[in-house]
Amino acid sequence: LQQVQEHILKIVDVVQETPQVRLLRVEYPKGSGLAYLPGQFFMVSLVDHPQIRVSRAYSVASSPLNTDYIEIGFDKVGVLTTKLFDMKVGDSLKFKGPYGKFFFDPSYDEDVVLIGAGTGITPLMSIIRYCTDKGAKNPITLLYSARTPESIIYRKELDGKKAQNPHFEHTITITRAQETQEKWEGRVGRADEALLRASIKHPSKSIVFICGAKEFVFSMIAMLEGMGIKKEQIKTDVWG
Ligand SMILES: Cc1cc2nc3c(=O)[nH]c(=O)nc-3n(C[C@H](O)[C@H](O)[C@H](O)COP(=O)(O)OP(=O)(O)OC[C@H]3O[C@@H](n4cnc5c(N)ncnc54)[C@H](O)[C@@H]3O)c2cc1C
Repeated sequence: LQQVQEHILKIVDVVQETPQVRLLRVEYPKGSGLAYLPGQFFMVSLVDHPQIRVSRAYSVASSPLNTDYIEIGFDKVGVLTTKLFDMKVGDSLKFKGPYGKFFFDPSYDEDVVLIGAGTGITPLMSIIRYCTDKGAKNPITLLYSARTPESIIYRKELDGKKAQNPHFEHTITITRAQETQEKWEGRVGRADEALLRASIKHPSKSIVFICGAKEFVFSMIAMLEGMGIKKEQIKTDVWG
């Protein structure tokens, strides 16, 4: 059984990953025995803030094998994320966890299909990084829906991933191509059944992870079930 722990962790790095999305890396509490699985989340809150006492869920984006830091990523949408955007290296945050059943189990030998939209890439990135670090042989296919090329999180790393992990493939689809200044030669339009059918080579021996907003996740589930993929093969992380 996993042990939930609470730690006050110092920020060691702040990365402006896209115009909207920021990554925070906090020190890994070495020697604490803290362990999480790729895809799990922590409840994050401010340390002793007089007014803002909320805690919110953030999926870890880093690999559990990376014991230098824990990385989370978010956009500025409300109470906590506005505060998180003000945080600097040396500030501290409270992390409680890990939590969640949305994780890659190292014993899986199925093909791994990862489907994400927007910031929903974060737990999927943890799985990709973990499988790459571990040298896992599972074929991994990432289908990632972003509004514009500028808003693609982890773009450089994803483009270079195949060189590190020959079992990794990805397709990025851009849903608001008309809003970009960039010449995008990749796929455009929402993730649809044609994309799923073209990308999922072995539907009966795949495990599918879907992460994003409710409408996105539900529409993906319906399409996958239409392809004969069973509920037991699908794991979801719905953020609201
Ligand atoms: C398991 C899990 C994992 C998650 N992982 C991540 C992650 O990795 N990255 C990430 O970015 N998020 C993640 N989330 C979502 C995250 O927990 C927060 O909900 C999110 O960051 C917003 O928090 P907030 O306090 O900034 O916004 P809140 O203040 O809670 O606002 C939430 C939403 O309500 C809207 N809103 C706020 N105030 C008002 C108002 N007065 N009137 C109308 N609308 C309003 C905001 O625009 C926003 O869309 C995850 C959620 C879950 C459940």
